[in-house]
This record gives sequence, structure tokens and C-alpha cells, in this order.
Amino acid sequence: MSDHAHPTSELQEISRRLQVAMEIQWILRDESGLSPVAALKRAAESRVVPAAAPRRPSPAARVEAASSPSSAAPPPAATVIQPWQNDPARFASLDELHETYQACLRCELGKTRKNFVFGVGSPKARVMFIGEAPGRDEDLQGEPFVGAAGQLLTKILGAVDFKREDVYIANILKCRPPGNRDPQPEEIAACEPILRRQIELIQPLVLCTLGAFAARTMLGVNSGISRLRGRVHDYRGIPLVPTYHPAALLRNASWKRPTWEDVQLLRREYDRLAKTES
Ligand code: SF4
Repeated sequence: MSDHAHPTSELQEISRRLQVAMEIQWILRDESGLSPVAALKRAAESRVVPAAAPRRPSPAARVEAASSPSSAAPPPAATVIQPWQNDPARFASLDELHETYQACLRCELGKTRKNFVFGVGSPKARVMFIGEAPGRDEDLQGEPFVGAAGQLLTKILGAVDFKREDVYIANILKCRPPGNRDPQPEEIAACEPILRRQIELIQPLVLCTLGAFAARTMLGVNSGISRLRGRVHDYRGIPLVPTYHPAALLRNASWKRPTWEDVQLLRREYDRLAKTES
């Protein structure tokens, strides 16, 4: 069959691709002010952009790694975690918790991170946002949500009258998974107690998870974000409102409206609880 057997369908395909490119350009310029290429690069660094499936080393590679001189070498003394540090619940302040775990090696991610990304915001925040894990920008700067997705989060907060400095923002994992791969169960198990203690110390009135991974981890369920969002859940007695990750909105404009509905729900829940508290 000739290459030119279906000129009409080829033209339709070219037209469709042009349309997609124009939509992406509009969405990304609208939200981030970056060029489409720059914004896509930034979005690719954030946690919600689908990452390559985690690649586990083969048994042979693991044996080789375990027997190599570099892996056999002990970590630097400053990064060895002491047995008493294995219980985040014993720390009485955020500063103490931060200081102790910034050298954490409770999981493999401690060996590859550039910076431990503890969290940012007011220690007395009444609203706490929780994402998945640091991306490239966060790993470099040691602060969560600082890239294009972080700028969008700040805008979203402002739209419902929250200031970034008045809330608290953290991730489930405090260290970046290499290549932004998916967090592994053992990493979540190792890191989640630190987040739990952060929540206990901050005592927010309401929590908001950003993205499917954070919602599923916090709620202990396996549902998709479209099923979880739009209502108030419970995390250890604290109301929790799940919504999309800001990076997802940079990729898909159709998630802007449900996100707007979710943050309005979050605001209403906060106002209701703040009223009963005062
Ligand atoms: S991800 Fe969490 S548990 Fe793992 S090394 Fe970093 S701080 Fe420690």
C-alpha cells in the first residue's frame, strides 16, 4: 500500500497534533508564564508527572552491589542515625525533629538526596498541605513546592485567601526518589512516622493532600484521585480534603475546575472548624 493512500487521515492527524500543541501552549502559558518547553521540563521534574516504572536491580546486580567496596563502606559518622532516633514521636518540637532527621538514613533515599526536604510554613498552621516527595527543584533548594507547581500552589492558596506563609507544606517522603521514580513501600514505611509527628506537633485543623499518591498513602486506600476528591475524609480525627497535584494542572486543564471546587471545600471546612474553635 502506498504511503499516500490516506491523505485525508494524515491531514486530520496533523491537524489534531497542531490542536494539541496549541492547547498545551495555552494551558502552560496561562498557569505558569513559562514557555511550553520550559514548563514541560519543569512539570517533568515534579512528582505527579508519570515517572518511569521503578526499576528494581536484578538479584545478580544486588549481590554485586552488596559486595562492592563502595557499598561496603560505612556511611559518614555524621549521617549514622542513632537507635533512639528511630522514634519520631519522642521529639517535642518541629525544630528538634528537623535537626535530628536532616541526616536521616532510614531508607536508601538518604544516600542519593542533595537536601533533606522537611517542610515549610508556620509551625502553628491551621491548614497543612501534603504532597508526595521532593522533585529536582525541591531537592536542590531543600524546600517543598518551589518549582512551577509550587508557584501554582501559592496562587491556588491565594485564590481561597490562604497565604503560603500561614499554612504548612510538607511531603510524604523527605528525600527525592532518584529520577522522580515512584516511592517504594519500604521508603514510605520508613518516612511516614516523621510526617505523622509533624502533624501531631502542628495540630492543623484540616489537611489537604495534593495528588493521588499522597491521598492514598494518608487514607490507606488504593482508589484513584477522581474517586477520593470532592469530599472530606478523616485522618486520625483530622478532616482531610484530597485534590489534584498542582503539577497535574499544568498538564491537564480539565482538572482545574475540580481543584477549584476542592479548595473551596477546604476553605469551608476550615472556616467551619475555626468558628467552632473560637
Ligand atoms: S526519605 Fe525519609 S526515611 Fe528515607 S532517608 Fe529520607 S528522611 Fe529518612
